[in-house]
Amino acid sequence: MTRGKKPNWMIEIAKERMDILFNRAEKEYKEHPERAHRYVELARKISKKYNTKIPQVWGRRYCKNCYKFLVPGHNCTVRLINNEINIFCSECGYIMKIPYIREKKLKRRAKIDSYTFKKRDYE
Ligand SMILES: [Zn+2]
Repeated sequence: MTRGKKPNWMIEIAKERMDILFNRAEKEYKEHPERAHRYVELARKISKKYNTKIPQVWGRRYCKNCYKFLVPGHNCTVRLINNEINIFCSECGYIMKIPYIREKKLKRRAKIDSYTFKKRDYE
């Protein structure tokens, strides 16, 4: 079937929904951390269902190992070591390493991705 190939408007809605979920997670984390973690779970489900990445701005706000919502100073520590952003998740002890340079490349790739998506849809 047409699994994985969703129309553009659907993907846009999926992105918007993920953004809303993460915004909500951020707001509610202080009082209801368990809700925040649940929102990340929901966003991940959307991401899988629509074969769309979680918006890049939120990419470092959840643990890639235990998938919990991360709030610097609360349940994670962010440090810059040798041009790498190290995010230490105190929920599970995992350390995410994000190189600085990759960020720029990812941004560039995101542009190309959205371009090829449009092209594919009209084929
Ligand atoms: Zn973790």
